[in-house]
Amino acid sequence: MRRFEAGRVEIVKGDITRLAVGAIVNAANESLLGGGGVDGAIHRAAGPELLAECRLLGGARTGQAKITGGHRLPARHVIHAVGPVWRGGTAGEPAQLASCYRESLRLAGERGLADIAFPAISTGVYGYPLEPATRIALAEGKAGLARWTALARVVYCCFSERDLEVYERLAAELLGP
Ligand code: ADP
Repeated sequence: MRRFEAGRVEIVKGDITRLAVGAIVNAANESLLGGGGVDGAIHRAAGPELLAECRLLGGARTGQAKITGGHRLPARHVIHAVGPVWRGGTAGEPAQLASCYRESLRLAGERGLADIAFPAISTGVYGYPLEPATRIALAEGKAGLARWTALARVVYCCFSERDLEVYERLAAELLGP
């Protein structure tokens, strides 16, 4: 684990479903009814009550986020953010990905949550290239910490060694020590 921004940004490797934070963010799809990858892992770990709550949300658009309880997870809440499918980068994907992070941070900030953990949204099945996605994730996390005073910590949970290496390298470039 490495820390940046005076300890307020943490980069860890592991399974996001294990993190005991105010909210973990799910890389959801527009249905908000579950899927593969991190979405499937979160629903499995949270139990069927999460799906029941998600059914009441009516889906979400790309770039939007909605919040539910954490149910059987150690996290208190799940924020379901819909990242863009990568279509080459000129179809509005960077703004949509930034919106996912910003909206998630807003939901956490408005509830006064102290910490939030993100997976690498859109960089799995949705095909967003890791480096530009990571730059957006880090920039929005830093902005969110400045905007939401109750928010004390933003965690980036990397699932692979390669993701961890990229996050740590770009954090050293873009964030303070
Ligand atoms: P998307 O459809 O938004 O691309 P994916 O779930 O396919 O979402 O991938 C997003 C990221 O989540 C990828 O880096 C993937 O390796 C990672 N991931 C998958 N399972 C987990 C997990 N349990 N904890 C944290 N990250 C995960």
